[in-house]
Amino acid sequence: MKKESNQRMEEIISLCKRRGFIFQGSEIYGGLAGTWDYGHLGLALKNNIKNLWWKKFVTDREDMYGVDAAILMNQKVWQATGHVGGFSDPLAECKKCKKRFRTDQLVNPKKCECGGEMSESRQFNMMLKTHVGVLEDDSSISYLRPETAQGMFINYKNIIDSYHPKLSFGMAQIGKAFRNEISPRDFTFRSREFEQMEIEYLIKPDSWKETFEHFRKEMLDWTKLIGLKNEHVYEHEIEEPAFYSKRTIDFEFEFPFGRNELYGLAYRTDYDLKKHSEASGIDLSYLDEETKEKFIPHCIEPSFGVDRSVLAVICDAYTEDDLGGEKRIYMKFAPVVAPVKIAVFPLLKNKPILVEKAREIYSNLKKEFGAVMFDDNGNIGKRYRRQDEIGTPYCVTVDFETIEKDNMVTVRDRDTGSQERVKIEDLSKYFNKKF
Ligand code: ATP
Repeated sequence: MKKESNQRMEEIISLCKRRGFIFQGSEIYGGLAGTWDYGHLGLALKNNIKNLWWKKFVTDREDMYGVDAAILMNQKVWQATGHVGGFSDPLAECKKCKKRFRTDQLVNPKKCECGGEMSESRQFNMMLKTHVGVLEDDSSISYLRPETAQGMFINYKNIIDSYHPKLSFGMAQIGKAFRNEISPRDFTFRSREFEQMEIEYLIKPDSWKETFEHFRKEMLDWTKLIGLKNEHVYEHEIEEPAFYSKRTIDFEFEFPFGRNELYGLAYRTDYDLKKHSEASGIDLSYLDEETKEKFIPHCIEPSFGVDRSVLAVICDAYTEDDLGGEKRIYMKFAPVVAPVKIAVFPLLKNKPILVEKAREIYSNLKKEFGAVMFDDNGNIGKRYRRQDEIGTPYCVTVDFETIEKDNMVTVRDRDTGSQERVKIEDLSKYFNKKF
């Protein structure tokens, strides 16, 4: 089983590199552990996921305020929240092979895979420290943020003062986060630099249960929207949540390397705003104008990893089957996330009459659907294989009949390989129904 899943991951990683989705970070210099670079198609996939998230959780709602806070923040932010002292994982080293491990993730924390004995476990702080300005002293210390959340909490007062929202309302942010993970692993799953999509939803304390339930459902809907298979998504109630949380659910996903955390949903009480209020000396309480009650809002936090979303989508899309007696690999992306929606081909590359017509169709479809690709490389079979591997749902071919006979093109469906003739003038309507 382990071998099979390792092999599946190897195949996925290899396709991601071959087709330009994801590359090892700093590859030509031998890499930098825990960093990954997205190529053109991986970036398109990632942007589709981020844009869909922003639409679902921000623009389609009336109660969300977007924030794009600086990654570098005053070190007092992280002192106030306890990250400087406490954002750590247990670390141990094998005395024989010198490899380092996160002990809470080991089946046997006393013995290494190589047979060697493990050292005592100690706490390792995962904050990536840096200095801001020319002086490298204590006052110039800053950290690359380990989560996007605090960038929102510290802007709570700005949002209240600028937009005067009434409770309940949320702040939302998409952005990079950095953690000096002890053992980055499983492709992009555990990286040192990654992206998050987070919401800090502020409420009156007595409505926490219904808000938690609302976001639990919204998060499950989201996994369906991006095309994750229902049977691969699990809810895991955390029995002993972090000290600041009254309830936490992890949404786990069945990755080929095992079931692991995809997203988290936490009721963070008034912990963060209270800490920032105390540490900054700025009053971060909310005044309910109706009841004249003053209090620090409580917070429900749905937290999504962008890279883990991309990885889950890739793992679930990766499909092998037999088509027309031939083995093939294809990415069964939901059309909403597919990096390329339609590819247009002239049957032959050296027949200007076909190329011209195909170019015309391509540019019309591109205006309407955006992610449309023109492809005239190699024979038609090769083009289908290439488009299958990057998960393009539909291919349109212009042939001699198009020109000489019926003004129709062949539209081929990625999943079934079935083909149908569609009038050029009907293509827009045809694809509007599909997407
Ligand atoms: P884990 O237990 O896997 O270390 P966590 O519980 O520390 O994760 P959170 O602090 O809840 O994670 O972060 C919120 C989300 O950010 C996670 O659900 C995940 O999607 C993403 N995330 C966290 N750490 C990483 C990482 N090292 N690489 C990629 N994504 C990450």
